[in-house]
Amino acid sequence: MTEALRAKYEHVFRVLNETYGRPVWRSHGPPLDELVATILSQATADVNTERAYAELTTRFPTWEAVRDAPPEAVVAAIRSAGLSNTKGPRIQNALRHIERERGELSLDFLGDLPLEEAMAWLTRIEGVGPKTAAIVLLFSLGRPAFPVDTHVHRVSGRLGLIPPKTNAVKAHPLLESLGAPETYYPMHINLIRHGREICRARAPQCHICPLQDVCDYYQSFVWRAADG
Ligand code: SF4
Repeated sequence: MTEALRAKYEHVFRVLNETYGRPVWRSHGPPLDELVATILSQATADVNTERAYAELTTRFPTWEAVRDAPPEAVVAAIRSAGLSNTKGPRIQNALRHIERERGELSLDFLGDLPLEEAMAWLTRIEGVGPKTAAIVLLFSLGRPAFPVDTHVHRVSGRLGLIPPKTNAVKAHPLLESLGAPETYYPMHINLIRHGREICRARAPQCHICPLQDVCDYYQSFVWRAADG
């Protein structure tokens, strides 16, 4: 079964690369910047995240300044990201946590830790789950972690790369086990793109999808139609 899943992952990886191009990893910047940006991105669109991040870093030129600012000033700066009353304190708490544990505001040391330790270190920060931790490690540091966001979770579930009803937390190690580490970044990016453009949450465009032949969700419809 695992071999069959690995073969399916390989097939999906190849077809998505042919369809959308193979994304090439480049660092998104220092891991602390990525952590703040990822907290801002929770439950909002990229454009709102970018606006809030730009406003925050314009009003406060250093992370020390963000950490020490009045909470309401941080909340006001990031309002465009939504849920600012939650995200503002979450960012300030994360900065205080990092300072307390490391004596400085930097996460660069995560590049030298074994991956599991780096994941564990990040997820001890309140409000930082496996998805946020994996994004920081993969996007900023190029570490082999596989972030599972809502699109990756939905598309990989419909395809049958993960068993039905697998939650997003359990999907992380399952997807990591199916492909080589160098596939994680392009696969993550292309699964998101596929989820936004074709395998949409409410109305998947199966009739134009190049993955029909390997998709459990689609094949179940074909069988039901043939039965009925
Ligand atoms: S066939 Fe349909 S459900 Fe399957 S991946 Fe494509 S769009 Fe999604």
